[in-house]
Amino acid sequence: MTITVKSYASGNPGISGWDAILAPPAPANVLTSAIVADWLVVGGGFAGLAAARRLAQLHPTDRIVLVDAIRIGAGAAGRSSGFMIDLPHDISADEYTGAMDADKQQTKMNRVALDFAEDAANAYGFSKSTYDRRGKLYGAATAKGETHNQAYLAHLHKLGEDAEWRTAAEMKAVTGLDYYQSGLFTPGSAMIQPAGFVRGMAAGLAPKCQIYENTPITSLKNSNSDWVASTPRGKITAPKVILAVNGHLQSFGFLRRRLMHIFLYASMTRPLTQAESDAAGGLKDWDIVPSDPMGSTVRKISTPAGDRIIVRNKFDYLADVIGSEKRVAQSAAMHDKSFAARFPMLTNVDMEYRWGGRLCLTFNGVPVFGALETGLYAACAQNGLGASKGILAGILAAEHASGQTNPYIDYYLAQAKPTRLPPEPFSTIGATAYLRWKEYQAGAEL
Ligand SMILES: Cc1cc2nc3c(=O)[nH]c(=O)nc-3n(C[C@H](O)[C@H](O)[C@H](O)COP(=O)(O)OP(=O)(O)OC[C@H]3O[C@@H](n4cnc5c(N)ncnc54)[C@H](O)[C@@H]3O)c2cc1C
Repeated sequence: MTITVKSYASGNPGISGWDAILAPPAPANVLTSAIVADWLVVGGGFAGLAAARRLAQLHPTDRIVLVDAIRIGAGAAGRSSGFMIDLPHDISADEYTGAMDADKQQTKMNRVALDFAEDAANAYGFSKSTYDRRGKLYGAATAKGETHNQAYLAHLHKLGEDAEWRTAAEMKAVTGLDYYQSGLFTPGSAMIQPAGFVRGMAAGLAPKCQIYENTPITSLKNSNSDWVASTPRGKITAPKVILAVNGHLQSFGFLRRRLMHIFLYASMTRPLTQAESDAAGGLKDWDIVPSDPMGSTVRKISTPAGDRIIVRNKFDYLADVIGSEKRVAQSAAMHDKSFAARFPMLTNVDMEYRWGGRLCLTFNGVPVFGALETGLYAACAQNGLGASKGILAGILAAEHASGQTNPYIDYYLAQAKPTRLPPEPFSTIGATAYLRWKEYQAGAEL
């Protein structure tokens, strides 16, 4: 069979501040010849990099090749907000055993991913600004948000998880802001500089894995027991291929009308002056996840050039994988409003970077995992928590493709198949109306 890749455009609009504030990368290593490998991993996001690292651990003498259509760090992984989370976002309100067990299982599996990331961070010598397992803080800006955090806290305790309540004064000591009425701290998550993390993973892997960037796979053909993957200027022949391309799986012709592309948007300020940092107060580095999932994620990071603040909100459902610059521009007003509401003391601070990025969900929230064809495996559709779930899917895909079995692989393989989306235009109209309504309801959490 021959698979022709319909689109390999990044589809991620705007320039990600996370990538832009790092030192420019060395020129891309582009594939310009025909090569042979034991393993081909397609995609240099969380899933692909984890798959390649796991393969290198399992098969130290095998030839492992990883390709990405763009620069590693410029894709969705490097555009994310950098919360690598252990706990499910929406712990089930149902307390029947099945739901509790599912939450416990998901948490346990997310921690496998976090441990793997931590091991890589140690092995590759990441700084604390690139990877730091310092936990995360949910901020409540409204009474409704506070009620949500209280319910979440109660569920966490039932699951046997640690979590600590934070008062408004404690929130102010962290953020310097009067904005948050209370907060909830959970200790297990890691905070990453997302572009630094994926670039660092690629650099760490490089001695054991050939990495090609700006090298899209344009077609895949199986011949005898090999897959031949074509790129604009070369080709790779390998018996086993792992597709870690998230929503682009549909560009490879799989799961048509079963993948949902949700775009998220973020803005990053220019570096603050010392006077502005002093006026803002709070710790040098802090991170807030909103208690309402539709609210604003806010981070403050310290960099050699000065502190910067990042605001992430606004969701769009697009039927295609390609985002638009226009929508990045449209998200600016919402970001600026959220920023001004939280930082009234920073009246003249502009946003230096604005960007959007894509995540992939399925209608019934299941991942796309396992063999698509003989020798061709998927580690796609992470749904929420794509940093930890992407890493997990990559690890498990590498193990599964290597013939290993374990309870986590069994759990992934036992998931239902992604259900079909309602036809267009109903999907887009319905999803857009839902997202706008939820944003409206988020109120000051936005
Ligand atoms: C603004 C924003 C904030 C977010 N914040 C968070 C957060 O805080 N925490 C969290 O957990 N998640 C977050 N996410 C979601 C997270 O980024 C994604 O879920 C995650 O990146 C998915 O990882 P992945 O490896 O599966 O896919 P991706 O990161 O999308 O990687 C797939 C790679 O495949 C490559 N590719 C595609 N087609 C081809 C081809 N034909 N040939 C070669 N390469 C190809 C792409 O270029 C891409 O680099 C956020 C997303 C956005 C946009």
